Amino acid sequence: NGPQKDDLQRIIELMDGFKASKALFTASRLGVFDLLQSRPELDAAQVAQEIKASVKGTQCLLDACVSLGLLRSRESSCQKRVYMNAALAQGFLLSDAPHSLGGYIQHCDQTVWPLFTHLECAVRDGTHQHEKAFGKKANDLFQDTLYNNQDIKLRFMSAMHSIAKVTGRAVATAFDLSRFKTACDLGGCTGALAHELTKAHPEMRVTVFDLPTVVEMSGRFSPQHSENRVSFLAGDFFEDELPKADLYILARILHDWPDEKVHVLLRRIADSCTSGCGLLLSEIFLDEDLRGPTRGLLQALSMSAGQQRSAAEYSRLLESHGFVPAHVNHTDNLLDAMLCFKA
Ligand code: SAM
Repeated sequence: NGPQKDDLQRIIELMDGFKASKALFTASRLGVFDLLQSRPELDAAQVAQEIKASVKGTQCLLDACVSLGLLRSRESSCQKRVYMNAALAQGFLLSDAPHSLGGYIQHCDQTVWPLFTHLECAVRDGTHQHEKAFGKKANDLFQDTLYNNQDIKLRFMSAMHSIAKVTGRAVATAFDLSRFKTACDLGGCTGALAHELTKAHPEMRVTVFDLPTVVEMSGRFSPQHSENRVSFLAGDFFEDELPKADLYILARILHDWPDEKVHVLLRRIADSCTSGCGLLLSEIFLDEDLRGPTRGLLQALSMSAGQQRSAAEYSRLLESHGFVPAHVNHTDNLLDAMLCFKA
């Protein structure tokens, strides 16, 4: 009796998953999708010339991308195989697509990939492997690793920006926020979610609060025709006074920190809040039985100082600082959301 076809297929897909990721990262990094958007129907030799790569390697990469559903191909009238972008590439892989994930893809390739090559050590030690991967000790992931080099900082900001643009609308519209006139997005990075919030809530003004090194570069990510209801304030949310607001937002912040630091941050927010203030939390919420979602469980393997949590675990942390979780929304997008009120 041979193995079940479906089981075999599934296990092979899992074993080959890293090859598919790396093919996607490489095609993106070499500019294949942007090239085929501006000049569709090129053959492998023409693509190779444009991206300055070997014809053999380019041919393999293009055919792999076709089989992954990222490109399409057809035989041209002169019997050459020519390539064009599939819908998936047009939606997510062009650098100027509204939902471009290009920034996040480069972060996965340049930062997450090296970390995951040391996964065995990460699991044995129970800590992240920044020192092994990048030769530097990192106590504070942001200040020690991501932000002490301008290129790495911009790449990280661009990664956050791309995910926030894809998820921002779902988070901004997950609840009725019409009662809140002022919001403060703590660790709001490039302001992508803040802009989605002001688009969805015409009365709302949003202050993006982030580290000075981030705020000084945020202008690069501002939308061209934005209304002036988003402002930036530089500071450290563990040290500096937080701006007053009706609604505080923590989007993809708490998973970066262990419980002790989460308590410090929530206490500081609670101290700035009056009764009735809102707190909007946006994270991947793990299932209560910890069987999914796979994305969150795989992210936990990066062994950062933080941890992934379920909605109930976040609720307990919030309740201990006087926040009453009112609504949970498992959006159909990449992030879930929870709205709480200060008692
Ligand atoms: N909220 C954004 C989003 O959802 O795209 C960015 C999330 S990113 C994982 C974490 C953010 O927290 C970064 O923008 C980082 O600069 C910011 N951050 C980290 N430590 C901080 C601190 N001590 N004070 C203020 N912001 C901080």
